[in-house]
This record gives sequence, structure tokens and C-alpha cells, in this order.
Amino acid sequence: MRLNLVLIGPPGSGKGTQAARIAEKYGIPHISTGDILRAAVRAGSPLGRQVEATLASGGLVGDALMTDLVRERLGAPDVRQGFVLDGFPRTVTQAQALDTIVTVPPVIALIDAADEEIVRRLGFRRICASCGLTQAISADSEPGMPELGIEEHPDPCPYCGGLLVRRQDDEPETVRRRLATYAQYAEPLIAYYRSRPTYGAVDGLREPSEVTSLLVTLIERRAPR
Ligand code: AMP
Repeated sequence: MRLNLVLIGPPGSGKGTQAARIAEKYGIPHISTGDILRAAVRAGSPLGRQVEATLASGGLVGDALMTDLVRERLGAPDVRQGFVLDGFPRTVTQAQALDTIVTVPPVIALIDAADEEIVRRLGFRRICASCGLTQAISADSEPGMPELGIEEHPDPCPYCGGLLVRRQDDEPETVRRRLATYAQYAEPLIAYYRSRPTYGAVDGLREPSEVTSLLVTLIERRAPR
């Protein structure tokens, strides 16, 4: 089966994790436009220099540039069996462009999660300052601390013993800002896709493995034969 999948979901919905799992299951590439742009910035390439300021500001890169980038990526040989797109399209213009690029209509999967739950969830996420592993700490082991804005977790990283700290963009205020940006672009995008037979939504607040199963069910039902 050839699977073209577009994943849409707010920050903190587990979209990146789910995209990687689905890509692995179907043996197709996980194409994250955010990852491509960040890699370009790190490499200092002409593209990187062009988008660096936009990425730093949290704004959106222009539609024409993004569309050219995705058109080229989707023309690569490893995309013959399909793709999982993560982070594109973000605007209706990009969605219309994608429709002209693909030959098999994409399955559109929305990973749904309420804002307050995301703010709460990311409040319990920590990253190890040494090994970089991201993990959830339990609410019980640290009663009330996220609300108090305490950065460090008393227990060390279970893998390397490093210090567990809160990611800067997981601060509740920053999370709310990222969610507001998402809401702005996601609403017209969802309206554009909602009436299609290939569109569906899953509950992103379930256990990660359950969300994967829900996505697989959605894909098997919605993918065009
Ligand atoms: P992400 O990792 O998907 O959150 O993307 C990180 C940043 O890359 C975003 O804040 C945007 O600046 C930029 N970006 C990624 N994908 C797109 C897109 N489809 N359209 C415009 N900007 C994008």
C-alpha cells in the first residue's frame, strides 16, 4: 500500500513521536519540515541563512519557499511508497500546493488535545541536561512544583544520572503562546480538510501506544484504495 499521510496536531500532542512510529510501521520516510529547517540553520546553508531569523522568532516561513522545499523532498526516490508529513502544510495555500504535488490523495490525521491538558502535560516534562533524553516525571513525586516554577527535579536522570531540567519552551507561558500560534493556523487548515473522506481525528490524550493504534485504524479506514 502506498501511504501519503499528513499529521496535524498542537505542540505537546506527541505528533513527532507518532509520526516516527507510523513511518517505521509502513516503511516510509518521516518528513518533518521543522527538522529540515533546523538542520539547514545548523549547517549554515543558504536555506538556513534565509530562514534563521524566522525560526528564532517563532513565525512562519513563506509559503513559496516551503512549497518548493516540500516539492523537492517529495520527489526523492525514498518517497515512492509514500510519506508521513509532520509540520506541513501549515496554511491553506500550502495545503492547496500539496494537492497539486501528490498523485494519491493524502490521509489527513488530526491528533486532538485540549490546551489546558497540554500545558499540564508539558509542565511534567523534563529533559536531561547531560544526555538530552526527554521524559515525563510523575505528578506525585513533585506535588505542585510546576506551578511554583521550580526548574530542577530532585531525582537524577535514570539513564545517566544527569540533572533533569525543564525545557525552556515548555514553560507554561511559552506553551500557551505556541498553542495560540497553532490555533491560528490549524483552524482554517482543518476547515479545508474536514469534509474529505480521507480526514479523521484521534484523541491525543491517550497513552502513546493507544494513539498509535488509533492512528493505524484511521489510516486503514481512510486511505484511498
Ligand atoms: P516545528 O518543528 O514543526 O514546530 O517547526 C519549527 C519552525 O519551522 C516553525 O516555528 C516555523 O518557523 C518553521 N516551519 C516549519 N514548517 C513550516 C511550514 N510548513 N510553514 C512555515 N513555517 C514552517
